[in-house]
Amino acid sequence: MSKHLTTGQQALLTGELELRERELAAQLAAHLHGQTRTERAHELLSQDGDDAPQRAPELAIAAALTDLEQRELEAVRGALGRMARGEYGSCRACGESIPFDRLKVEPWAERCVPCASALEQSKH
Ligand SMILES: [Zn+2]
Repeated sequence: MSKHLTTGQQALLTGELELRERELAAQLAAHLHGQTRTERAHELLSQDGDDAPQRAPELAIAAALTDLEQRELEAVRGALGRMARGEYGSCRACGESIPFDRLKVEPWAERCVPCASALEQSKH
């Protein structure tokens, strides 16, 4: 069990994560549903016209949103898994404890601030 977090703090963060998981799952379902409907409309319309150029950006936006939500949902579920295994709250890069103040803002954070910024920089 993570020693630097109290039982109360862990309960609070678990609550946040579970809430976020439900929100994301609902949004994702709505977008996947919307995307399916748009695709069907596109199919119907493209049979007798050239509507495709206007439809394409809409589809791309829906796909990008769905992708983002999917990734965030995976991060949230990963955090819940670490919580269940008692591994929650340690940086996966350096093993240091992630401060509660950071976890409050981003309960699914896997890295401490220095490691997260190092990762961000390495992407640029
Ligand atoms: Zn770290």
